[in-house]
Amino acid sequence: MACTVPEPLSSLPPLRLLIAAPRGFCAGVDRAIQIVELALERFGAPVYVRHEIVHNRFVVERLRQMGAIFVEELDEVPDDRPVVFSAHGVPKSVPAAARDRSLSYVDATCPLVSKVHRQAERLIDEGRHILFIGHAGHPEVMGTFGQVPEGSMTLIETVEDVADLDLPDGNLAFLTQTTLSVDDTASIVEALKAKFPEIRVPRSEDICYATSNRQAAVKAIAAECERMLVIGAPNSSNSLRLAEVAERMSVPARLIERAEDIDWDWLGHPRTVGITAGASAPEVLVREVIDAISAHFDVREEIADHTPERMVFKLPRELVA
Ligand code: SF4
Repeated sequence: MACTVPEPLSSLPPLRLLIAAPRGFCAGVDRAIQIVELALERFGAPVYVRHEIVHNRFVVERLRQMGAIFVEELDEVPDDRPVVFSAHGVPKSVPAAARDRSLSYVDATCPLVSKVHRQAERLIDEGRHILFIGHAGHPEVMGTFGQVPEGSMTLIETVEDVADLDLPDGNLAFLTQTTLSVDDTASIVEALKAKFPEIRVPRSEDICYATSNRQAAVKAIAAECERMLVIGAPNSSNSLRLAEVAERMSVPARLIERAEDIDWDWLGHPRTVGITAGASAPEVLVREVIDAISAHFDVREEIADHTPERMVFKLPRELVA
């Protein structure tokens, strides 16, 4: 639907922009982008990337202009070019196929996703069946399922799925996707523990620090906001969850990719608008949205710093040696 951009309304009170922190890039996304940039430096263009390196069109387009070619499957990669695997992780069959073809590859899987992969392997070695809490079709879920033999892991998306399970208690364990809703996952875990009292509970939460912190930061500001803008891609799981968190606190929220997606009629002229960004959305897009709003309203910016983040992941040795 086409929306009209309002003229400046100087007679109205200033619009307060409450900017959530932390927001935007996490350590895993930062590392994955650096890996593609370093691979381009090391090998020259083109470097192939299997799947969007992170779920953000702006990031993907910038890397494409630098010489990256994005493909969905390994058989689209020529024998003589390197390939990078995305931050979401890949099934074991993918690096195996790359080795079979003697392809040069760099794995940009986030270390926190790799940690879940190793946990899954250990649980299978112990003879357990894994209940995996996640979203069907998400590349991270497909990558994690691809770490274990077929049939040894069952996907759980909702509390209702738990009720439908017909499995004996005793040798079960659960793991989760890293980018889930903290609240929804807590409900599913409670349902699992109630139905399967002997289920193996992971030692620590698999929902990653970045996902948890961004959701907590939205919760911290939502009560003061009349609208919430979430900058992120429609296929970004953690961005979608941020919009849900706001909506559940009765704050109308919109997921937008860029400033041009702002629906000015929907935004209206509230006193306070919250702004956040998913883990794959660069800060430049946050600034673009703030600038677009500032061009039309008298704006007062406030950063609501919730949990400072200092996480940094090491780069693969083959690119920094
Ligand atoms: Fe890693 Fe979490 Fe970032 Fe995903 S959102 S790349 S799991 S730190």
